[in-house]
Amino acid sequence: MIEPLESGHPQDHEDAEIGEARAVVDAAVREAAAAAQHWRHLASFDRGRVLMSIARRIVADLDDLVALERAETGKPAPLAAAEIIGAAEYFEFYASLVHLPIGAVLDVRPDLHVYTVREPFGVVGVITPWNLPLNQAARACAPALAAGNVVVVKPAETTTGTTVALARLAVEEGLPPGVLNVVLGPGSTVGSAIVEHPLVRKVAFTGSVLVGQKIGRIAAERILPLTLELGGKSANIVFADADLDFAATEAVRAFTGKAGQICSSGTRLLVERNIHDEFVAKVVEAARRQRPGHELGPMITDQQFETVQHYFRVATDDGAVAATGGTVALEPGMAEQRFVEPTVYTGVTSDMRIAREEVFGPVLAVLPFETEDEAVAIANDSDYGLVGGVFTADISRAFRVARAIEAGQVYVNSWSTQSVQMPFGGHKASGYGREKGIEALAHYSQMKSISVYTPSS
Ligand code: NAD
Repeated sequence: MIEPLESGHPQDHEDAEIGEARAVVDAAVREAAAAAQHWRHLASFDRGRVLMSIARRIVADLDDLVALERAETGKPAPLAAAEIIGAAEYFEFYASLVHLPIGAVLDVRPDLHVYTVREPFGVVGVITPWNLPLNQAARACAPALAAGNVVVVKPAETTTGTTVALARLAVEEGLPPGVLNVVLGPGSTVGSAIVEHPLVRKVAFTGSVLVGQKIGRIAAERILPLTLELGGKSANIVFADADLDFAATEAVRAFTGKAGQICSSGTRLLVERNIHDEFVAKVVEAARRQRPGHELGPMITDQQFETVQHYFRVATDDGAVAATGGTVALEPGMAEQRFVEPTVYTGVTSDMRIAREEVFGPVLAVLPFETEDEAVAIANDSDYGLVGGVFTADISRAFRVARAIEAGQVYVNSWSTQSVQMPFGGHKASGYGREKGIEALAHYSQMKSISVYTPSS
């Protein structure tokens, strides 16, 4: 007979898990560090070719990667495919920028030759969330590698498949072993072990504000540079002079895209009061065309499904009115698959939780405004500042409002027309540092100034 194992003290168990996580991370970080000099000093053309091959391979393996990602997230196939093509674009874009970042020669004094160079950090830790697994990993890994760093990446516990596949296919496409490593496991142990590891010289984190704060505390102790890509509660402002039919479909795309599980969702809709009722009717009509199980994917995790339902209760308790939705999907069997109805709340004021907190689901809070100043004030009355939108036919107002919105990206007369060329990142609690664009390279490299004394004789 097998004797039951004596269960140890819970603290012993926790200590063992932390010890195990540290050992796993240590092995990966050391592997990366061993590959760092080779990768860093490879001719930039060679680095670029490898990154370009990775881009092509992602496209070639699209069907397999989509299947992997769908198995873990349940996303509609076209959505998963678009995100994975986006992942390839990150590698393609940064492959074309490997010759950057460049330095400058500074005219300081005749007997000094002064110049600047940008250098990689060495080992970069990348920690990603579950909502766009491969896309988010590529968003950080591609510029980090292009800038000559080596990477240890940890995906969210529930969505590991495509990140592991990325590391495998990258080696098959010529990335030297050790340059891109994946570690798996819980954030509280494996994730924090990455942030704490002394050989990790930079961390790029995408996820919640709460975890961003925890990482920030460790980073403060270590003087560790961070890129923090956190949450949002982004406002979309619609003036009466806008093309209302188009604005309504865009407003719906803004909060139902990826079933609302995207940091850059437009989850607050600010509508000029004289068109409020007419515009809300258009939004409701367009929202109802986003059918759960068809255009609208499921909540990716059980926990997120619970969270969205929790916010349905919060909104109602606080006095908001569901103009549509406010429930799990009502068709038989849909709720079991974690589908919720696209939801539009009216009667919302800025102090309500539904207007302040990130739900991370297809849930919209509509707030009326009277003047341009009031619209901007409501938009900026948020702890977050990730993105924003403005719809108007008045071009001067469009420029004014775009400048006045406190957010890292603003869209005029469309929603979320993002691209890899556009720097992306938050103001306020939405984070700091930038991903995407040429700017990301500056966040994956550090500046050195060199002064050479050159006396005339
Ligand atoms: P999360 O913060 O719970 O987890 C993100 C990652 O951090 C996971 O890999 C997790 O395992 C890890 N982690 C958890 N605790 C950790 C710790 N103590 N130390 C180190 N790592 C730890 O976020 P989530 O729920 O997976 O994702 C949803 C959040 O991500 C939302 O708030 C969303 O807005 C945000 N997000 C932001 C962006 C952006 O670009 N700004 C993009 C996507 C998602």
